[in-house]
Amino acid sequence: MLTKKLELAKQQISQKCGCKTGCPKCGRQLRFVAQMAEACIPVVYWELKMNGFSGAENIRTATTDYMSDVKQRYQDGAGICFAGTLGTGKTYGIANILKAALAGDFSAHYCCLADVVAGLTSSMTRANYSALLLSVDFLAIDEVDSRHISASEQAQDLFGTSFERILRHRVQNKLPIIMATNNASIEEAFTGQFRRVIESLGTGFVQVVPALGKDYRLARGKE
Ligand SMILES: [Zn+2]
Repeated sequence: MLTKKLELAKQQISQKCGCKTGCPKCGRQLRFVAQMAEACIPVVYWELKMNGFSGAENIRTATTDYMSDVKQRYQDGAGICFAGTLGTGKTYGIANILKAALAGDFSAHYCCLADVVAGLTSSMTRANYSALLLSVDFLAIDEVDSRHISASEQAQDLFGTSFERILRHRVQNKLPIIMATNNASIEEAFTGQFRRVIESLGTGFVQVVPALGKDYRLARGKE
């Protein structure tokens, strides 16, 4: 947990408010920043809203559309996957979807596939981590890429089995999965046995939003 960052963000809020210690007026904001920290939303996105978004247009549209009714999305178990190159605003979009979920009184968790691999393959963390991934209302997995999956066959099997169970449980219980990959498609991000896992879940569990091939961050740098 980002304890120090959270502490500083809370100080900033109460100083801006003028109360310096927290009061009913800034209390909601203080609680919200604590929720974002608990959900592991990266600190850089705590204050970034969609009106400051400068990534790919279809990621903006899909994000704001999803955010407009998180309760309905939750009921439908609507998953979404942003697929595209770096700098198209995939994590920005994900973070804002999770913030909308928290604001709507849902629980949320942000992680990268590498965190999932580490969390599920260590016997120290496996039980707690899989419980979190199974139960959280909105789960976001960023950087979905088969490169992050360990080369060791034993670790692959262990991870594959736990991860498949989690994905299957979430799909069967209509719990939304939000994903992002630098690959052009979800099938490309998962190879080998993971391709099989994804395919076995069917194509309907996530809506894939391509960010298009253009690298928006590079394009901006040239202007
Ligand atoms: Zn205050």
